Amino acid sequence: MTYFSLAQKDICEYSETLNFQRDKERKVKLILMGAPGAGKGTHAKEISKKYTIPHISTGDILREEVRKDSGLGKKAKSYMDSGKLLPDDVIIEIIKKRLQEDDCKKGYLFDGFPRTIHQAELLDEVSVPDAVIYLKCPDDLIIKRLTGRRIGKNGRIYNVYFDPPPEGMEVYQRDDDNEETIRKRLQVFYDTFSPIMDFYKKKGIFHELRGDEEKEVVIGKIFTLLDGLK
Ligand code: AMP
Repeated sequence: MTYFSLAQKDICEYSETLNFQRDKERKVKLILMGAPGAGKGTHAKEISKKYTIPHISTGDILREEVRKDSGLGKKAKSYMDSGKLLPDDVIIEIIKKRLQEDDCKKGYLFDGFPRTIHQAELLDEVSVPDAVIYLKCPDDLIIKRLTGRRIGKNGRIYNVYFDPPPEGMEVYQRDDDNEETIRKRLQVFYDTFSPIMDFYKKKGIFHELRGDEEKEVVIGKIFTLLDGLK
C-alpha cells in the first residue's frame, strides 16, 4: 500500500466515524399540524416508525389521564367534551415532562401540539423544531372522517364510511366525535392556527401538504419532504 492510499484510507475511516457520531446524535424534531380529522394521527404512526421518534399526541396523553380518572384527567374532561382547549400552562408542563423521557433523545413528532401561539413560543424556549408539516383538508371531509371514526380495542382506527370495522368487532367512538363538538373543535382550530402558521413561516420551517388525498399518497409526500430536509 502506498503512503498516499494509506492516508486516504485513514481519512475515509475518520470521516465515517464522524458521520456515525453525527447520525447517532442527529435529532428529528417534527410537528404535524392540521384541523382535527386531517389525518395527523394516522400519518404520525408511519412517520414515527420510519424515523424512530416518539409520536407525542397531547390528545392521547389527556385521554389516558381521563381514563385513569387522575386529577389532570378530571380537569381535562370538561374541556375536551366541549371541544375547548386546556390552559397553555397545563399543556406545556405535560410537554416539558414528556421531552425529558429517554425516547426523546432521538427527537419527537408532535401531533396536536402546539395549539396556540403561546404554546409555540414556549416550545421554542425548550426545543426548536426542524420542520412543521400542515395537512390541509376541507371541512366537509373532516366532518365525515370524524363522525364516522371508530376505534378498535387494539387502537386500530376504522371509519364507517370509508373503512368499516369487520362485522361483530367491538369498537368505540370518542366522546368528542359528535358533529356539534367537531364544529366547535374546527372553529377553535381556525381561530388559533394563523398566528402559529405565521410564526413557523417566519422561521422558514413551515410546509403545507394536501391532507385529502389517498393515505398512501399523503404519506409518500411527507416522506419525500422529510428525506429532502435531512
Ligand atoms: P385531539 O385528540 O388532538 O383532537 O385533542 C382532543 C382534545 O384535547 C382537544 O379538543 C382539547 O380539548 C385537548 N387538547 C389536546 N391537545 C391540546 C393542546 N395542545 N392544547 C390545549 N388543549 C389540547
